[in-house]
Amino acid sequence: MQIKTKGIVLKVQDYNENDKLLSVLTEDRGVIYAYASGARRMKSALATVSSMLCYGEFVFFKNREKYTVDSAESERLFFGIRKDLDSLAYASYFCELCLSAANPEEDSKDILRLLLNTLHMLENKKVHPAMLKAIFELRLMSFIGYAPDLIACSECGEFEKGAYWFDTKSGSATCTDCRPNGAAGEVLLSKAAFLAARHIVYAPMEQLFSFRVGENSLIELSNAAEKYVIEQMDKVYPTLEFLNSIRSF
Ligand SMILES: [Zn+2]
Repeated sequence: MQIKTKGIVLKVQDYNENDKLLSVLTEDRGVIYAYASGARRMKSALATVSSMLCYGEFVFFKNREKYTVDSAESERLFFGIRKDLDSLAYASYFCELCLSAANPEEDSKDILRLLLNTLHMLENKKVHPAMLKAIFELRLMSFIGYAPDLIACSECGEFEKGAYWFDTKSGSATCTDCRPNGAAGEVLLSKAAFLAARHIVYAPMEQLFSFRVGENSLIELSNAAEKYVIEQMDKVYPTLEFLNSIRSF
């Protein structure tokens, strides 16, 4: 059975002497693991499309549960990310998060669109990458059913207080009047950081990237979003450890 779909390569592994195994996030079938025969040869027609971050149209052949790449046409290769170590480290983490978040054989248009938009913003360098990381983390969690509840204080119901404690386990927020000192597993978000987090979770996709916060709020937001992902996914991400070893904050 032939399957034609748009997708982006999240991961590439060498397989046998000449082949590669691609993990491709598709728009309608989650992550597909497909063998690209001969892709390790320089002259292979699949050489270009068998590289991480290659986005395009893929034609897969499915036989029982095994996929192979029949043909593919690249539309975007994100060269600006590939040639910059910092950007590549961020992109690698985004790809690894998608690998653990997308369910096989499920519609994944939202996740694919989020990843493509985030990579586009990462490549053109107009937004701080730590901001893109926080946006990607919180929005991705929302797409896969772990949306935090950032509408109002979990105790008094006030939705416009100053700072809020964000509980990275439950995803709820509590204002500092109700809980002056916070509790274990909670991180303090200033008003600006809290409003930014709320925007990321609830804004329409086309407005997702259209807000800015100051550096201190960005640091708070960035730490909270990362803690939330670690807590919800309960996984260790080697690409995140690498990213944190090289980025400034
Ligand atoms: Zn309250």
